[in-house]
Amino acid sequence: MDWYSVTEVGDGLSLISEPQVHPFLQANIWHLRGQERDVLIDSGLGVAPLAPVVRQLSAREPTVVLTHAHLDHMGGAHEFTERWAHPLEPVGSPLPGSLESAVLAETLGLSAIPLPPLLISATPSPDYDPHAYQLHPAPATHHLHDGDVLDLGGRTLEVLHLPGHTPGSIALYDPKSKSLFSGDVIYDLDEDDQLLDDIHGADIPEYCHTMRRLADLPVEVVYPGHGPTFGQSRLRELIKDYLSRRDSSPVDG
Ligand SMILES: [Zn+2]
Repeated sequence: MDWYSVTEVGDGLSLISEPQVHPFLQANIWHLRGQERDVLIDSGLGVAPLAPVVRQLSAREPTVVLTHAHLDHMGGAHEFTERWAHPLEPVGSPLPGSLESAVLAETLGLSAIPLPPLLISATPSPDYDPHAYQLHPAPATHHLHDGDVLDLGGRTLEVLHLPGHTPGSIALYDPKSKSLFSGDVIYDLDEDDQLLDDIHGADIPEYCHTMRRLADLPVEVVYPGHGPTFGQSRLRELIKDYLSRRDSSPVDG
């Protein structure tokens, strides 16, 4: 079966996703093409080979930029030569991954989220054993810091260090199109879902600071680490909701 599904977003951007993964663990993989360089923002779970899918989008090998070191974002990174991440993310020695929700909850420090025992609903091949899943380390070949600018040729991406979900979470901001690749820092949530800010490595005061910073950024469109793309008003709403729940000091604006 085709494990990955590819959607053309337009303007040199494609979305690669893994439809057979439970929504909780189903992360977006963004492939963005410039004139000189392509970037792959995150790399899925690593359940099936990702490089052949990426090769169909461009003959050029992309630079993989990892928003953070969670299994659903860095699973396929080891297949690529260039892997860039913030120094505070342990991409070379990540927490072990699992497709079994009980094991994963224990490893990540997830509080009670109702999940099925197994987080994939199909396997990429008949002989694939989901219980044998392992997350491959993918040591960074280059470290990214807040304010770094990635020049893709004809478009640039600015690195924002936005801790809270993890210590070294980053987002990428394109100032020309005012688009934000937000990783797990912010994504659109169902009413009873919440951003993961109380798992191992997460920090609520830092997350609040991150949200305040995002509130000041001129963003037109968010390409998140999970779920659908959304616009500025939804972004503001999500920031406000978060701060009203978690922040003890008053919300500006
Ligand atoms: Zn995450």
